[in-house]
Amino acid sequence: MEQFRRTKIVATLGPASSSEEMIRKLAIAGVDVFRLNFSHGAHETHRQNASIIRKIEKEIGKPLAIMMDLQGPKIRIGVFEDGSILLKQGAKFILDMEKEFGNSKRVALPHPEIFEALREGTELLLDDGKIRLRIEDNDGSKIITEVVDGGVLLNKKGVNIPNAVLPIAALTEKDKGDVAIANEIDADWVAISFVQTAEDVRYARKFVSSDVGILAKIEKPSAVDGIDSILEVSDAIMVARGDLGVEMPYEAVPGIQKMLINKARRHKKPVVVATQMLESMISCHVPTRAEVSDVACAVAEGADAVMLSAESASGNFPEDAVKTMAKVALKTEADGLSFSQDFTNISTLAEGVRNAVINDNVKFVVVFTETGRSAIDISNGRPGIPVVALTPNTKTLHKLSLVNGVKAFLVGELFSVTQMVEMAQDVVTRNFSTKGSIKVAIVAGIPFRASGSTNLLHIHAIGAHINS
Ligand code: PEP
Repeated sequence: MEQFRRTKIVATLGPASSSEEMIRKLAIAGVDVFRLNFSHGAHETHRQNASIIRKIEKEIGKPLAIMMDLQGPKIRIGVFEDGSILLKQGAKFILDMEKEFGNSKRVALPHPEIFEALREGTELLLDDGKIRLRIEDNDGSKIITEVVDGGVLLNKKGVNIPNAVLPIAALTEKDKGDVAIANEIDADWVAISFVQTAEDVRYARKFVSSDVGILAKIEKPSAVDGIDSILEVSDAIMVARGDLGVEMPYEAVPGIQKMLINKARRHKKPVVVATQMLESMISCHVPTRAEVSDVACAVAEGADAVMLSAESASGNFPEDAVKTMAKVALKTEADGLSFSQDFTNISTLAEGVRNAVINDNVKFVVVFTETGRSAIDISNGRPGIPVVALTPNTKTLHKLSLVNGVKAFLVGELFSVTQMVEMAQDVVTRNFSTKGSIKVAIVAGIPFRASGSTNLLHIHAIGAHINS
């Protein structure tokens, strides 16, 4: 039986992994959540990948979640006559709304809505921060800048504007078109890019089915500042370190990562750590030791999941990258590494399960859950044992693939305590290797089928009489 790993793995699909053979390999190697990146790829490719994921999930008998990651309002410059230009430090460079091709003096910034928010002195970071421009003048349709850091600038490169809250909606027209196919691709999570405020998440909710989880990608300083209100209205967050490290000094990112993980835990919301975790594995089949430490650090800090981007989407070794992540997470968990995790806001239920582990030597907790909330709640106490979630709801089954320590199973509805105990015992003995007599904590709500009524914690000895 596969070793139980508590930290979940999210892998992005792309040209290197959009085939049935590779998706199967990645799922078997340990992927729990497949991320379909709507910044790239045709709808048809995403549809095909989604149906392959659902087929493989049945074949290997392990729930797999599908995360639809929307491009969001990524700001980009237009195109140049010659495809690129060289910007020299100290030179003037103009951004405007003209339709003509750009040159070494100017280029289009085809986002009229942001011109008003840009003030003299504001810095614009182009191409992931490699090029830095400072605004000297803005007449509302033409922005004159000075080149602070120069370099080669190619067509359609991204523009980050860290120190301004921009008057742009969290979902672009493209995002709205994409999210309209969320049901078709059976998405369990929709990730919202460049969230600036809690209002952005509330707005996104209008376009997403109520049973699909909304994950807010934290990649703007305003989102870091407003994290508590964003966590209140989101179902999960991602520490999106790529853009975050452009929008904020990269040396601040590790501290922000730690803070965001702790905040997410306090709000009982799953948190994913993303980007460049095993970057060198795009071209090499072994990771650097620094990358191993980075994955281990996210695990020890208590992240629910760690994510692969280009490593699995366009790299040469997608399967090795997943296996590496799984191996590092397992070893870090086995070594018991834990970096000042935050347990200040765990619930009575999570506390009860932790106590049952310490005082009663409980080896599994089985939780009956409709929405997944009780399983997330128990996971949040990081009890150190498998949280076996039994649910009659397929969306809940899938969504829990993102949650630390949870292994979910689809079951029928419950009608009696005897049936509850039998079902718990059956799932544990069938799916985990158990030797001799072991104790299981069973969590449920009575009356059964009344959502939000979790009120029972029952200790049961498998292989012996019920011990309540
Ligand atoms: C990031 O910026 O870290 C991120 C995950 O977003 P994307 O890969 O969509 O740019």
